[in-house]
Order: sequence, then structure tokens, then C-alpha cells
Amino acid sequence: MAVENYKGYLVLSGVKWIEDKNTITITCYPKKNTYADGSKTTYKLATKTWINECPTCKGKNWPSKGNLFGFGEKGKWFGKEGGVKCKVCDADFCGVTGRDTLNNVVKRKLTEVGANSDDNGVINTPVDLTEKEVLLPIARLEDMYNRGKAYAKKNPNEKEFKVYVDFETKKEYVSWSKVKKLKSELATRVEAYKKEHNVDPINIWIVKPKDLQW
Ligand SMILES: [Zn+2]
Repeated sequence: MAVENYKGYLVLSGVKWIEDKNTITITCYPKKNTYADGSKTTYKLATKTWINECPTCKGKNWPSKGNLFGFGEKGKWFGKEGGVKCKVCDADFCGVTGRDTLNNVVKRKLTEVGANSDDNGVINTPVDLTEKEVLLPIARLEDMYNRGKAYAKKNPNEKEFKVYVDFETKKEYVSWSKVKKLKSELATRVEAYKKEHNVDPINIWIVKPKDLQW
């Protein structure tokens, strides 16, 4: 697999992340095949958005939010597959499962944005991704556009509404006007990406980070 330089780390091609005070969104490979609770992973790129709060040192440090960052291979840190690290307590997490990578650790796990969480009740309402620097799979955008179009046709008086990213789980949504805008820009952005990278993109940024051309 091709290796590239990303934000000062060596990573496998396609691995990327972006953090802010509240969330970290990462596209990476899982760190393990099997975790201590027996759960298994598939070795392929996945994009997840986690609440930027370390479950290992939460409550022991202030501020507890905003301490997580994405990492790859650099110096004493290894892992070209990408992962999430806490700058306060040094804990490592798998970016795909959110699990602590230490052996035999079952409970400590990152909280996925939009997931219903019984143990800490962080988020129970769908998260608005309209203004977030988050990658959206292009196939998902097409699906959202088609659902939005069908809804708009049935409800001609509604000019703006939520389009859920996944209609089954209804965890996250993007506003209809933004979905339409992304769809209208899609061809141009795919073309620009292909020119730069020589491959078809699989994702599109909902809000493009300032340092990226495509
Ligand atoms: Zn920590």
C-alpha cells in the first residue's frame, strides 16, 4: 500500500483527520483485527467522527475537551494506519472502533458523534454537520440528494429541512440547501481531485478545510 506524508506523519494513502475543540473526524484503518471484547474489524478505510474528549483521563484533567488529535507514524509513535491520541495522558485509540489500543481494555472507548450514549448521555439529538469540516462519502451524498429531492417534491412549501446522512439511524444531518450546493459542486470538485491525485475521490468535504485545494 502506498505511503504518504500527511501533516508531518507517515500514513497509508487516504488516511487523514481533522480536529476541533469538540470533535475529531478521522479517515483511517483499524488498529487491530480483534478487540478484548471479541469484536472484529474489517481492514479498510473508514471515516468516523468522535467527541473530542479522552475517556481515559476525562474528569482528571481540565479542560477535558479538545485534547485528542490524529496521528500516524513519527519518531516513537508508529501506526501508518492512523489513529487517535490524547496529548494529556498519551492514550491511543483506534480511529475506526474508538477503542483503547492497550490489551485487555474493554471499557474505555471514544464516543461517536451522534451515537445514543447511555453511559454518559453526551448526545441524544442528531448532529448538524452542515458547517462541519467532515468528509462525506460521495455515494452517500447522491443518496441524500435523491431523498431530499423526493421530499421536496412531496412538500413543495418546505424550502429548508434536515437530510439525514443515514436515514436508518438518523444520527447526523445536513441542511437541504447545503446538500443541493454540494451536489452542484460535485462534478467540479471530483475533476479537481482527479487532476491532483490521479484517482477518483470517494469522499467530499462538507466544508472544505482552508488548506485543501479540492
Ligand atoms: Zn487522556
